[in-house]
Amino acid sequence: ASAARDGKRFAFYNPGQEQSVRKRQTLLDKLKSALENQAFSLALQPKVCLKSGQLKGFEALARWTTDDGSSVSPGVFVPLAETAGLITELDLQVLDMTLDVIQQLIAQDTPLPVAFNTSTLDLLNTSYMEVLLTRIEQSGIEHHLLDMEITETQVMEEYEQTAEQLALLRQLGIGISIDDFGTGYSSLAHITDLPASTLKIDQTFVRRLGESEEATHVVEMILRLSERFGFDVVAEGIETRQQLQLLQARGCQLGQGYLFARPMPVAEALQWAQEHHRTSLFQHN
Ligand code: C2E
Ligand code: MG
Ligand code: MG
Ligand code: MG
Repeated sequence: ASAARDGKRFAFYNPGQEQSVRKRQTLLDKLKSALENQAFSLALQPKVCLKSGQLKGFEALARWTTDDGSSVSPGVFVPLAETAGLITELDLQVLDMTLDVIQQLIAQDTPLPVAFNTSTLDLLNTSYMEVLLTRIEQSGIEHHLLDMEITETQVMEEYEQTAEQLALLRQLGIGISIDDFGTGYSSLAHITDLPASTLKIDQTFVRRLGESEEATHVVEMILRLSERFGFDVVAEGIETRQQLQLLQARGCQLGQGYLFARPMPVAEALQWAQEHHRTSLFQHN
């Protein structure tokens, strides 16, 4: 064979790509054993009333620290778990930890709702709903203390298969929040009968509030839609006072973000709940 042809054939060999395939496999092995050992934990981020500054609840976010002490971001392990068929197992472990946290909040006399994140793959999994409802009933927790977050893009991609299940959860009094709202270009036809209680304005819009006319426009539109169709609204990723003020001026009810608090370990969040349960966060500013 001529050198030229070999050269061409070897152009398909990409050591970088092979290395990343191997890396992914290693991480996947670690993920599997982390699930077996229930090595995931929760970080809890407060949700705050933007009018009163009162603590209104928490969102539970999955955290993973591997044996060598390095932490892997959900932006990496969630998609990995999704493609490997492991996301439902992960999400059910997060649900159990969430139910546990709610029980601890009740026990210390600060009963507040806690939201957990889900993937549509959970709702497409035939046994998920049954397991979910069984565990919720076994916990004895009142449904209004639970809120399920699911991203707009995922809901819209599988609207026919998921809408009914979300509607059932709503009927049972469980909150349904549409996460990262504004990024998925929901059709208006769907928004009007979206089985949800809350829209969460995606942080990309909140971050550009006051800087980009377009982002400000999107936020205003979501707030109008919510008022018109009776959704609660949470603004995600509030980092500055200016963003807070712009949201307050437009009547946005609820918010989350580093300005108030970063996601924190469970013990810290329980203490946070005790400190802020009956006071306004704004008084401390
Ligand atoms: P999300 O549900 O939209 O969560 C918000 C993300 O924004 C979190 O990132 C949070 O730490 C971060 N964040 C909160 N406030 C601020 C802020 O002021 N500024 C900035 N820059 N970021 C802020 P995290 O924890 O890395 O989670 C990323 C995504 O991974 C989540 O987005 C959610 O979609 C997914 N995820 C997390 N835990 C789970 C889980 O248990 N199950 C599933 N299926 N997905 C999860
Ligand atoms: Mg979320
Ligand atoms: Mg979000
Ligand atoms: Mg997100």
